[in-house]
Amino acid sequence: MLARRSFLLMVLAAAPLAAAGRPKLVVVLTVDQVRYDYLERFAKEYRGGIARLLKEGAVFTNAHFEHAPTATAVGHAVIFTGAFPASSGIVGNEWYDRASKRQVTSVSDDSVTLLGAPGTSAASPHRLLAPTVGDVLKRAGKSRVISISLKDRAAILPGGRSADAAYWYDAKTGNVVSSSYYMRSLPAWVEEFNARRLVDRFAGRDWTPLSDGAPLVRLPPGGPEYFDRLTASPFGNELLAELAQAAVRAEKLGRGPATDLLSVSFSSNDYVGHRWGPDSPHVRDMMLRTDLLLGEFLQFLESEIGRENLLVVFTSDHGVSPIPEELPAGQGGRILGKALLEAIEKRLAERFGAGPWVVGHAGPAPYLDHERAAQRKIPLVELRREAAEALRQVRGVARVYTVEDLASGRGGDEIDRRVRNGYHAERSPDLFPVAERFWVFGSERASHGSPYVYDAHVPVIFLGPGIRAGRYDRRVAVNDVAPTLAALLGLRAPEASAGEPLREVVR
Ligand SMILES: [Zn+2]
Repeated sequence: MLARRSFLLMVLAAAPLAAAGRPKLVVVLTVDQVRYDYLERFAKEYRGGIARLLKEGAVFTNAHFEHAPTATAVGHAVIFTGAFPASSGIVGNEWYDRASKRQVTSVSDDSVTLLGAPGTSAASPHRLLAPTVGDVLKRAGKSRVISISLKDRAAILPGGRSADAAYWYDAKTGNVVSSSYYMRSLPAWVEEFNARRLVDRFAGRDWTPLSDGAPLVRLPPGGPEYFDRLTASPFGNELLAELAQAAVRAEKLGRGPATDLLSVSFSSNDYVGHRWGPDSPHVRDMMLRTDLLLGEFLQFLESEIGRENLLVVFTSDHGVSPIPEELPAGQGGRILGKALLEAIEKRLAERFGAGPWVVGHAGPAPYLDHERAAQRKIPLVELRREAAEALRQVRGVARVYTVEDLASGRGGDEIDRRVRNGYHAERSPDLFPVAERFWVFGSERASHGSPYVYDAHVPVIFLGPGIRAGRYDRRVAVNDVAPTLAALLGLRAPEASAGEPLREVVR
């Protein structure tokens, strides 16, 4: 009996995460604009990091975002806080700020300065109202939290307000930059990274697919156009992976007294997807190259930190819709911002007198002029009702929610719920239009933002010691990632999280 009990104790002690200590480093790999079906579509061709994640990881095949709009800033906030826009305050990539009467981005901040490149557009996490897993880690002890991406929002939001640093890419100079929010000046290793001009290596390069010889893209020979175009090529991800390696080495991540967190958000997949669409050879090649790049990066991390000390999460911030012009006739379409704007202005002018009535927007969703309405003693409820009616007449618009619908609504279908989860009382627009399935808002060739499955269904994979490998087909929310990570680290979930720890991976 005694022998049996001590055997049991030994087994328990050997259960890696339960007893043998916490990982030294958590790495969250977010690949921007990866639809879940990309994992299955190219499954036979993966042989690098994605192949490993699929084989050795806990793979959630049915993980969905439960909010709209499905955009980069919102998705990253959900992944790391578990909170919906309703409480994180991140309602879009950009929106209209009624207090300052202008468009703002999810991270724009005039009170800080950009480090590493000349520029006025500085950024910080000051608009993020919910704590991240990184914030919870920082509160608990001596963890370091570092977050990088090509995009400012995808670097800043994952770390949260107490992150040690966020680094992103300045498309005017090709430099890695940060914000005075985090530090007074860039650390020596980032200065050195910029001084080496690794970015110039890809100038004039052909992007040739792995599978055959015809080049997909030739990059410009240099200058601002090159720095910008680099982002829409696999070389943007390669540059970012080098930055991530430099960060791990210079900051000695995973070698400290507490668990460190590194967030790497690979942006180039999104730029490529917008430009050429999900069914292009470009996106296929991007995924195959992402697979190889992640394989190398995982190997690097394991050689630096040790496999037993590393916990990896792989996910995405949103999916993407097919290019409407490439669909069979009658199956989809495009709604330009101009059509929405004109419909509202015309109707409100007829009904309430001359405008302009629209003062700002969050994607396709308009903010109406409340001051003009007050001057003319028009109740906002009426103003919104008329504007919503105007939008409903626009071809391709399926539904229009007003603030009143969202603030008081309950129940409803999946789309109702997702739009409501995206609503924030102070920050949201007056109206939220939803397009018909496969109709997209705006002029970008391929786009995302809808509550439909192609924008909402993304990969979620955990890999590391103590993670039970397998395929889990149960329906889960991406909000579950943050509380799961917290549980794996023995911490409480971030306070505003609406998710649940995924019990399949948390023993
Ligand atoms: Zn995008």
